[in-house]
Amino acid sequence: MATIGILGGGQLARMLALAGAPLGHRFLVVDNAEDPCAAQVAPLLHADWRDRDALVEFARRIDVATFDFENVPAETAHWLTGHVAVFPNPEALATAQDRFLEKTLFTGAGIGTPAFATVDSLDDLRDACARIGLPAVLKTRRLGYDGKGQCVLREPADIERAWQRLGGVPLILEAFVPFDCEVSVIAVRSRSGEFRHYPLTRNWHRDGILSASLAPLEGFVELEQRAIAHARELAERLDYVGVFALELFVHGGQLLANEMAPRVHNSGHWTIEGTACSQFENHVRAVLGQPLGDTAARGHSVMLNWIGELPEAGPVLAEPGAHWHDYGKSPRAGRKVGHATLCADDPATLAAMLERVGRALGRAEQVAPVIAALG
Ligand code: AMP
Repeated sequence: MATIGILGGGQLARMLALAGAPLGHRFLVVDNAEDPCAAQVAPLLHADWRDRDALVEFARRIDVATFDFENVPAETAHWLTGHVAVFPNPEALATAQDRFLEKTLFTGAGIGTPAFATVDSLDDLRDACARIGLPAVLKTRRLGYDGKGQCVLREPADIERAWQRLGGVPLILEAFVPFDCEVSVIAVRSRSGEFRHYPLTRNWHRDGILSASLAPLEGFVELEQRAIAHARELAERLDYVGVFALELFVHGGQLLANEMAPRVHNSGHWTIEGTACSQFENHVRAVLGQPLGDTAARGHSVMLNWIGELPEAGPVLAEPGAHWHDYGKSPRAGRKVGHATLCADDPATLAAMLERVGRALGRAEQVAPVIAALG
């Protein structure tokens, strides 16, 4: 039995605690929010991540520290290593927090990316647009997630407007990729160096936020092997410990890395019911140096995200093979408040299930691209 400390008390911490409890582990969450949803299932240390006294107490009460949020200040993570083991290591966290360092890591590892350039002034932005071409996407280097802190530039008139909106902090301009689809690899590396990966997952976003994920994928064998080789290379280079997600665009048979999330990831929520050992359990095992669990898919799974507010649970609960997750959060526009995972033995049964759920919940638009992908 060990106690795992988690910086951040959102739904990811909640699902980590729920996965670790059967193994006999305890958790302690540190968060300064009034009612972080992980505190409904694990003890909470109500404190700011910059409060050194609170962090000393946090370190004293735990065996190992980890994160549910990639934007925990890297200096906090670094300082904490003087008091307790911290996984993933703070250098890996710092690299994944900065889109420029992250993309530089990708190119150094031989992984394709959209063309990119740093932007610190309006002149830089004009130069970068001339070099990369339009359309392009301007993003803050740090603190961006779920499409926050980014803006698409389609014509020269957008350049100044985008600068007005985002300028003043370090930025990165990326070529806009007219991708065929988006995929992610969820992988895990343990303290002993053991590496495992889940099947490649296909993802659909709406307004920059994940809407649905599907795994495993048929007809992606070669791409999957390449994506997994990339994930393994990154894990080794970063001496990474724990679960991470590598998000990629598929464009004309090419894989272009978008970003890496140094934590359990929304596109891996389907692994709770869709595999023998979920991303959450494997993260717990990895940071404790325990053997990793089986990551193979059991049948076919689709995860549907609930954003803003929960739909009615009944039509989902009525489906055999469907699983409902309510994060215990109050509704708010753009907020992830829950998800459902639908599992079936074959793609046709899964498509029929999605059709029924989409119709009953008035969410035909959310399920339609997944049904189309299931063929
Ligand atoms: P991000 O916060 O970088 O993961 O971006 C959120 C979503 O915006 C991605 O999953 C894509 O759907 C879209 N997006 C981000 N960057 C690009 C890009 N360079 N080209 C096309 N779409 C993008």
